[in-house]
Amino acid sequence: MNQKIWLSSPHLTGEEQKYVKEAFDTNWVAPLGPNVNGLEADICKYTGVAACSALISGTAAIHLGLIMLDVQSGDEVLVSSFTFSATVNPIRYQNAIPILIDSEKDTWNMSPALLETAIKDRISKGKKPKAIILVHLYGMPSKMDEIMAIASQYKIPVIEDAAEAIGAKYYGKAMGTFGELGVFSFNGNKIITTSGGGALVSNNPDFCKQATFLATQARDDAPHYQHSQIGYNYRMSNIVAGIGRGQMEVLDDRVAARRQNFEFYKNELAEFSNISFVEEPEGFFANRWLTTILTDSYETRERIRLALDKENIESRPLWKPMHLQPVFEGFPSYVDGTSEDLFQRGLCLPSGSNLSEKDLARVVEEIKEVLRLKF
Ligand SMILES: *Cc1c(COP(=O)(O)O)cnc(C)c1O
Repeated sequence: MNQKIWLSSPHLTGEEQKYVKEAFDTNWVAPLGPNVNGLEADICKYTGVAACSALISGTAAIHLGLIMLDVQSGDEVLVSSFTFSATVNPIRYQNAIPILIDSEKDTWNMSPALLETAIKDRISKGKKPKAIILVHLYGMPSKMDEIMAIASQYKIPVIEDAAEAIGAKYYGKAMGTFGELGVFSFNGNKIITTSGGGALVSNNPDFCKQATFLATQARDDAPHYQHSQIGYNYRMSNIVAGIGRGQMEVLDDRVAARRQNFEFYKNELAEFSNISFVEEPEGFFANRWLTTILTDSYETRERIRLALDKENIESRPLWKPMHLQPVFEGFPSYVDGTSEDLFQRGLCLPSGSNLSEKDLARVVEEIKEVLRLKF
């Protein structure tokens, strides 16, 4: 059997161990300590955002983000349908109602037109949505000018789910820093990883201060354990943050490597008119977390996926939209078939920053072989 090629595997440098060792040597083996503060400072410096709260996951960050915006039981939250379930689940943790919005074709992210349609319709039904959760899928920025203009026109706060998009920029400005709140993930499959972790960022430092407070069991200032709010155990540990500090040092290299993967696939597959790629609109800088291809049909997509699988190469269909997931059936959606079509025809290719040229060549050879067959 050929060696396994993964979709997106962790890529450590070894430098992470320096920070982790420091944590051991100083006995800072706790959900606070110099690495946690250091990682927060690194994230602020890298993205230009004012404040950061390091947490156990991106999902926890979205949950606390919703709490910061006072999203409560029965409130409606507008959210991208074309995403991973972790974007939408925290809305349900709050017993709030997800209103699922379809994608537009240029970036595959939330359609500004459908967003506005949904806002008008919800208001006409008697309820103004409490928040918007916007996703920058596969590290491609959303159409921020259009989205933020609508959000500000209707005065609805935005949480950017930039779990896949750290290092991506829109006209030079980091994703995650446009909305009231932004979310990053450092899960094992993301562009940089802490093995598991996330962060909530904001240009309003009070949000991050309050999120950190809630993430550490909402302990009031008293010598005994005193609580006047419901708390969570969501804080990142100092060990995990040490891995993150090492990873932040190489984030730009990781982005460059992923972008190079994209260019390689695009050049190698240029001859096939039934394969297309998402291009960056002017001013958009994608981190190319995953290289995705769009084929001409579900059948072609499946032929490629199964052929890769047989060669021990991991690939995966694009996210199945949330409005098609059994768990979110029955929630309102504003869709026009775009994400459903992408789901049918799209495929994520191996995209790790640690793939060798040989690995990439193996993937491309397999795909070419499938596409050259007449069927
Ligand atoms: C990974 C991911 C999350 C969740 O992040 P975790 O750190 O795994 O909890 C949320 N949204 C999107 C779009 C993701 O890709």
